[in-house]
Amino acid sequence: MRLPKVTRFLATVATAALAALGAVTVDAAPAAAAVRNVCYNTSQAGPFASYAVQAASIWNNATNNINMAQCGSNLMIYYTYGGGSYAQRTSLGNGRVVIDYYQAQQYSPLRIMTHEIGHILGLPDNYNGNCAILMSGGSAGTSCTNPYPSSTEAARVDSLFGFAARSATTPQVFTGSWPAPVTAGAQR
Ligand SMILES: [Zn+2]
Repeated sequence: MRLPKVTRFLATVATAALAALGAVTVDAAPAAAAVRNVCYNTSQAGPFASYAVQAASIWNNATNNINMAQCGSNLMIYYTYGGGSYAQRTSLGNGRVVIDYYQAQQYSPLRIMTHEIGHILGLPDNYNGNCAILMSGGSAGTSCTNPYPSSTEAARVDSLFGFAARSATTPQVFTGSWPAPVTAGAQR
């Protein structure tokens, strides 16, 4: 079972606060601490913006460790005419998705969107023709409209973010390590 993300976030804050007071020992890898925002931007998505929102909701519901929201441009959504849909992942949770307008008239646009976002979230293609597998993509045929990741696929994303988010291999920006001195003019 999963707790609502807000609840888990609050739990994380509470745990951190208690830990700061020395009241509790923080678990080495609390699941709540792994929740990471994946900020997507639909300003260039044209007619596919609503599909991106739906796909984000699907991923949020299927996973524990990510929270997709329109909070930035880690993931840009574009569309084009011809050439095929694709995802360009620059790092876990970052990159761009491009939806081919013509392809989206043959295949389910929501399935395409959810699949391509799956690549940004770390999943490879798995062309096994199984409609129940999101990453089977077009191999499942145009009649397949399933936009949901399998439990295995969702678990894989959770695993990637659960570990990679705390891994030194993931580019990261650290801010706030050196707060401004309280007393202006203090000499060090
Ligand atoms: Zn693919």
